[in-house]
Amino acid sequence: MKVILDNGHGRDTAGKSSPDGRLREYAYTREIARRVAQDLKRRGVDVSLLVPEETDVPLEERVKRANRIYVETDSRAALVSIHVNAAGSGSSWEAAKGWSVFVDPSASDRSRSLATSLAKAAEDAHLPIRYQTAGLLYWEQRLYLCKHTLCPAVLTENLFQDNRADVAFLLSDAGKQAIVDLHVKGIVNYLNSL
Ligand SMILES: [Zn+2]
Repeated sequence: MKVILDNGHGRDTAGKSSPDGRLREYAYTREIARRVAQDLKRRGVDVSLLVPEETDVPLEERVKRANRIYVETDSRAALVSIHVNAAGSGSSWEAAKGWSVFVDPSASDRSRSLATSLAKAAEDAHLPIRYQTAGLLYWEQRLYLCKHTLCPAVLTENLFQDNRADVAFLLSDAGKQAIVDLHVKGIVNYLNSL
C-alpha cells in the first residue's frame, strides 16, 4: 500500500499566507508532508510526495501523477492532501478556527473511512474539530483532486492561517508535531483497518 502525500499550493500561488506573513501555506504544508513521510517510512510504510517541487503544480497534473501511482501499485494507494484553511483573503485576522477533513460528495467508503480515521486522530490530539453535519467527522465538498483521483483521497485543512491563535499554535514546535502526529496516526490506523 502506497500513501501519496500532496502538499497543495506552490510558492507562486497568490495569497495563501497569514496576514503577518509568518505562515505561508506552501512552505508549511511541505514541511508537514516531509515530516509525515519520514515518520511513515520509519514505520515501514511506502510513501510518495506528489509534488516535490516548490512551484504550483496544476490540479490536472497532480491527478495524473496520483493516477499513475495508483496504476503502478495495482490499485494499492491512498492520497492525503495537506492544507491550512483560511476564512478571508489573507489581509486580515479572522475569527474562524479549528481543524477539518474533506471528501468529495462522490467519495468511496474507503475515502470516508480514511477521513474518519484522520479526524479521530485529530480528536485524540485535542484539536478543535469543525463539524459540517452532526455525527459526521468529515466534510463533503466538491474537490477536483479528490473527485478525479482513482484512489481513496481526502483533504485536511489544518486550522486557519488567518486566525491569530491557530497560527501561533501551528508555528510552535508542539503545534507542528501535533499536526504531523495526527496524520501519521490517522493514516496508520486506516492502513491497519484494511
Ligand atoms: Zn490550501
